[in-house]
Amino acid sequence: TNPELSDHTEKSASLYDQACEVIPGGVTANIKYFKPHPLVMERGEKSHLFDVDGNEYIDYLLCYGALILGHGHHSVFEAVQNQMTQAGTTIFGTPHRLEIEMANKLIDLYPGIEMVRYTNSGLEATQLALRIASAYTGKSKVAKFEGHYHGGYDQVLLSVNPDESKAGLDAAPNAVPESSGISDHHVKNTLILPFNNINATEKLLREHAKDLSAVIIEPVQGGFIPAKQSFLNGLRKVTEELGILLIFDEVKTGFRLGLGGAQEIYNIKPDLTALGKVLGGGFPVGAVGGKKEIMMISASNKGRDILTAGANNNHKNEVLFHSGTYNGHPTVLAAGLATIHVLEQGSMMKDLISKTESLRSQLESLYASKNIPMKTVGIGSIFNILFTKSAIENYRDMKHADRNLREKIDYELLKLGIYTKPLNRYSMSVVHTDEDILATVHAHEKAIERVVENES
Ligand code: PMP
Repeated sequence: TNPELSDHTEKSASLYDQACEVIPGGVTANIKYFKPHPLVMERGEKSHLFDVDGNEYIDYLLCYGALILGHGHHSVFEAVQNQMTQAGTTIFGTPHRLEIEMANKLIDLYPGIEMVRYTNSGLEATQLALRIASAYTGKSKVAKFEGHYHGGYDQVLLSVNPDESKAGLDAAPNAVPESSGISDHHVKNTLILPFNNINATEKLLREHAKDLSAVIIEPVQGGFIPAKQSFLNGLRKVTEELGILLIFDEVKTGFRLGLGGAQEIYNIKPDLTALGKVLGGGFPVGAVGGKKEIMMISASNKGRDILTAGANNNHKNEVLFHSGTYNGHPTVLAAGLATIHVLEQGSMMKDLISKTESLRSQLESLYASKNIPMKTVGIGSIFNILFTKSAIENYRDMKHADRNLREKIDYELLKLGIYTKPLNRYSMSVVHTDEDILATVHAHEKAIERVVENES
């Protein structure tokens, strides 16, 4: 049976029908769809969203975690307006000061970042990081972890959410394409590793070391399943030993576990880091940062830099292509810098994290009081709700959770004004209030009554 939304979403339904005429599936990213139709939003205000039918929601999607300051933060609006007014334009297409200012900020905050290049999305950032790794090491294969998402391109769009029947052994997962149209070349050349299992990971890496340029990892899978410290320590050690670069994809974790991302919390220096989301203050952005010696391989202008900055001699004459009309967009960087400045004020990050922990523990107590096995899984300002008692350490463990119950609760929550796409994780912002948290816990209580107590 189709889950139902409220009776008050007729305008969303009608706009969705119109969208379907001109946009395949009616959505601009497949992930935005849910049954019977997605909700069409019209306005945001702080932690709240308003749809075209006038329904109000407390927003926990926050544009997939990008809006850490919530909707319409005055510092971001002012920074964008001032930047455009002072520059007299939206973009120069030339070098400008904010590129340097943001790079210095990232170098200050991220232990693994000594130099920076910009892109326009998280996808492009991970893609550039992988190319840099390949060019630097002279090796062509890459390794990624099962269940980890790095953007929707062929090289890494494998085994993100694989069908159990195709996924293979726990200790040696198969490369399963997530989409039709993915080249066989990448199915063969991308090694899939089991997250949080250091022995199996190490064994696979040793077997393939001579071909592997890089291991890319979400240090916190999906933004909510943390790597074990011993696992990341082991991964850092073995990649270093084998001459494989370690890439942290911090597109979700950047500015969300702390200002310096997962690498600061875990005290591990990756060779390369991909950033996105929060970095753009709500505008499209990505960045790659890393060790100077490695990053210098993208300085293909063979100007002063490549001769003086200690670039690896072996690569002096090779050209690494990196380009993009909008890279380092000044308006976007102004929004990103304004966002970081707000996060740096006082106890902003600490308060955001304790607010998140408070919501998590209130929800856990509520479900415990109703005898429903539920746990929140997360770290920093993102978490997920899983209906299970089992430990959740990787993609396969999530299969133990009751998705059906979660989906039913999520649809009731939507009707009660709590917005997160059904089955999606919860992201918090600095502008979520105590009242929001209280209302969210109450909505869960009502949703439980409707779903569980009415059924029994
Ligand atoms: N890596 C991670 C860990 C992500 O979560 C995402 C986006 N959800 C990406 C890469 C891709 O970023 P974008 O959507 O900006 O291309």
